[in-house]
Parts: sequence; C-alpha cells; structure tokens
Amino acid sequence: MTAPTRPFPIFDAHMHLDPEGLGVRAAKEFERAGGTGLVLVGKPYRSVRCSTAADFGCSFEITVDLARRVREGTGLRVLVAVGPHPAELPRLSGELGLERAERVMLDALETAASFVREGKAHALGEVGRPHFDVPPDQWEASNGIMSEGMRLARELGCAIILHTESATPGVFAELAGLARRAGLPLDRTVKHFSPPVIGLAENAGLFPSVLAGKGAVEKALAQGTRFLVETDYIDDPRRPGAVLGPATVPRRTLDLLARGVLSEEAAFVIHGDNPRKVFGQ
Ligand SMILES: [Zn+2]
Repeated sequence: MTAPTRPFPIFDAHMHLDPEGLGVRAAKEFERAGGTGLVLVGKPYRSVRCSTAADFGCSFEITVDLARRVREGTGLRVLVAVGPHPAELPRLSGELGLERAERVMLDALETAASFVREGKAHALGEVGRPHFDVPPDQWEASNGIMSEGMRLARELGCAIILHTESATPGVFAELAGLARRAGLPLDRTVKHFSPPVIGLAENAGLFPSVLAGKGAVEKALAQGTRFLVETDYIDDPRRPGAVLGPATVPRRTLDLLARGVLSEEAAFVIHGDNPRKVFGQ
C-alpha cells in the first residue's frame, strides 16, 4: 500500500456509540485505522426510555458526554448530532396516543435545538420518518416533525441529518421539496444511509451520506465528489457485527487511495471540504 504524501482527513459522517457497547474503544479503533473525524449521532439508548422532552434531553446528554469522552481519549474531531429518532413516534403513539406523542417529539426537537444553540451539538439528527410502514396519520405527523426540524435547522444555521425510507429519486425529490419549503439550504440537508446516487438530477440536491458498503464509494466516486461517507455503526452489544464496523471508512478510504481509485484531491474534498461545508466546521 503506498503511503499518502501528506496527512489528510478521514471522516465518518454517521456513527453511533453506546455506553453499553464498545463506546470510546470503537472510536479508538476508528482512529487507529486512520480516521480523523466523525459525527457522533444520538440514538435511543436502553438506559433512558423517552416519554417526555426532558427524557430526550437526558438521552442527548448521553451523546454529548460520549463525545466529550472520545475527545479526551483520542485526537479525533467529534461533531455531535441530536434529535428524536423517527422510530420513536410509533413507539410513543402506542403509549400516549398520536397527538401527545407528536407534541413530545416536537418538544424534543426544540430541546435538540437548544443543544445546538448552546454549542453542545452541531447538527439536528437523526430525524425524519420511519423506514417501515406506519399508519397514514403517523406518516403525516412524521412529515410535520421532519419539516419542523428543517425549519429549526434553517433558524440555527446548522445541518439536519435525515433518516427516512430507502431513497429513490422520488423520495429525494420529496425531501428536497420539504427542505426548500422550510428555507433550509440543500447543502445542509443530509440524506443518511444514502445509496451512491451523486448526480443532482437523481438526488434533487440533497447531500448524500453514502453508506460505505462494498463497492458503494467506488460507485459514488464515478459520479463526482459531492458526498459524505458513513458506516452507521450502531455499537449495539446485542448485535456485534450486524453493521459496518467502526474502522470501515478509514480502511476503505486507504484501500481506494492505494488502488488509485481515489485521488488525494478527491479525498480532501470528501473528507475535509464536504464535512466543513455541510456542518459549518
Ligand atoms: Zn443512525
């Protein structure tokens, strides 16, 4: 493997860590493999069952605390994204009824926004709508919550990380329409778990965060450099190896460089310029 001529960034745009999983050790594994920065995205932790916006606040604090511990234990640049996960709406609806569940989700978004305002978080996410079928009224409520998230992101001048069903050109266009209506720049509207669809005609201008599965980054590179790369590592102790491991993005990036598929220039854009453009830092 030929060594790169200068140090360059390797950024994973979507990672979860769990206090009950590997936690900081996973971040160290990422760093050892060559990673330099990541977005730590909150997730529903088992230790906090969220029924109120205050519960969500506690959950967001876990993410912020994990980020602090990663910064202390590594040299990584760690950005934080918090927000009520879209799968929480169907769960909460079962407990509280849809109307109250929707209220809790909206209040939780407001709490997430206050984390960004205070500088504890840098983006809203992941928010959006369930990737599985839900009744029409829950779908409608989810779209409303997602739109409110976009409006808040615009107000805060931060990015939003969208979790939705699989992105087809139709889905991309619909999400872009919602972002436009909310006044949120599409460069700050990140489609998490994106297929390697880089052309603006197909992704409607959303910012794709491409899942680093086998061959996906190559496919993306063949179309351009306007994308982020992610593992969606979930650090779930009950499902080790269920998803891409924490070292995947550095390994793939270094391998693509060594094989000449990825140029150093393109690596600087994808792992340096793009995260800066999207997340504003
Ligand atoms: Zn995720």
